Amino acid sequence: MELNEAQVRNELRSFLESNWDPNADLLAWRNKLIDAGWGMPSWPDRWYGRNMPQHLQSVVAEEFARIGAVSVARTGIRLLAAETLLAHGNDAQRERYLRKILTGEETWCQLFSEPGSGSDLAGSTTKAELVNDEWLINGQKVWTTSAHHADFGLLLARHDWDLPKHQGLSYFILNFRQKGVEVHPLKQMNGHASFNQVFFNDAKVPRSDQIGKNGDGWQIAMTTLMHERRNAGNIFVEARRRGDFQGSIYEQEAEENKILLEPYTWYPQRAGRVDLVLPRARATGAISDPVARQEIAKLLIMSRCAEWTALRARAGQQQGQPQGPEGSLGKLAGSNIARQASKVHTLMTGVDAMTSGDDSPEAGVIAEILLSVPAISIAGGTDEIQRNIISERVLGMQKEPRTDTGPFKDVRKN
Ligand SMILES: Cc1cc2nc3c(=O)[nH]c(=O)nc-3n(C[C@H](O)[C@H](O)[C@H](O)COP(=O)(O)OP(=O)(O)OC[C@H]3O[C@@H](n4cnc5c(N)ncnc54)[C@H](O)[C@@H]3O)c2cc1C
Repeated sequence: MELNEAQVRNELRSFLESNWDPNADLLAWRNKLIDAGWGMPSWPDRWYGRNMPQHLQSVVAEEFARIGAVSVARTGIRLLAAETLLAHGNDAQRERYLRKILTGEETWCQLFSEPGSGSDLAGSTTKAELVNDEWLINGQKVWTTSAHHADFGLLLARHDWDLPKHQGLSYFILNFRQKGVEVHPLKQMNGHASFNQVFFNDAKVPRSDQIGKNGDGWQIAMTTLMHERRNAGNIFVEARRRGDFQGSIYEQEAEENKILLEPYTWYPQRAGRVDLVLPRARATGAISDPVARQEIAKLLIMSRCAEWTALRARAGQQQGQPQGPEGSLGKLAGSNIARQASKVHTLMTGVDAMTSGDDSPEAGVIAEILLSVPAISIAGGTDEIQRNIISERVLGMQKEPRTDTGPFKDVRKN
């Protein structure tokens, strides 16, 4: 019999009434949630879930939010790792890694982009060589968010240079706690240091930590990226709604978030902070300026249309429809909105938009918007790549000519 909303609500309420304690130990509470299947209820019941349909997730989220109950660890890259393991890992890997992802005991990062392969992800030249029954990894990754505190990385690397580009890739779990891995933080123009360069010098991966088999790397990477696009933007949901509740468990969670959320503190600014536009238009008087009003109206129309498109996509998914073109359209709309918001903030603030410090507009937030917005049209696939996807896969236009077929060793790089 299919579960309905009232059944989920009743069962979860009674679980929370008997078990939730805002002064509990964070780790013990998360283990309890995992064992009861309420941490990730949409996951299979064999793996800490309840096989719950996606459309009931919002009921679970509402019940947690109602009493301020803390959930399992969800921030950052960890759920991408978990979803990838659920889809392509074996049982031994799921047994070893999934629980500690959800308890928050182990953190992850995504080792995909390289200096010569970002948009052209399949052009990865990081080498994976099987020597004496273990993989030796040599090469370099870049842009790796959170590598400076990660325990493990999702690694895409090339095991065979004679095969065509996409077929010579394999996928690994890389343990950061070893001497063959070096992490160098990169400082961005907005002052934060969220990403890193990661160098591998005979880094070791046991055979048991290869996900899938040789040549499965590209297909598995697509699963990771699909979840990245779906989950983008959820990072702050957990941290925001607390405030109103008291208890020692929140202090433990805040302590954890100090490290985990630090790389993401500027993410609201990179989206352009549309929420600040009207209050600032009123405060600065720009609301009465006809030129500023035009630009503000344009921004708010773009922003509303994107919201409705996202809602339509979510409603479709909840009714079991396959994912449509909204992913790439939404990603591109997000970039356009952020750029327009940055323009509007500059128009309203004038030269002071360039100043930072406590006495600058919005205590430096406006300057941070201007310096962070360019990132949104790069991260997770650039605007040009989204346009290629839309033209080729949505509009059915002719594909770009390829010059990268044949054995990868003969393909021109960079
Ligand atoms: C905030 C942020 C966080 C990130 N976090 C991670 C992470 O954790 N892990 C990770 O692996 N990566 C991460 N990245 C990297 C990101 O995925 C890459 O930057 C992105 O895919 C673009 O690759 P690139 O920088 O090498 O640019 P390139 O691919 O070199 O592109 C350079 C320019 O050429 C254009 N271009 C390239 N190919 C084409 C084409 N076929 N047609 C038209 N134009 C083209 C691009 O649009 C761009 O304007 C992050 C990036 C950002 C900004």
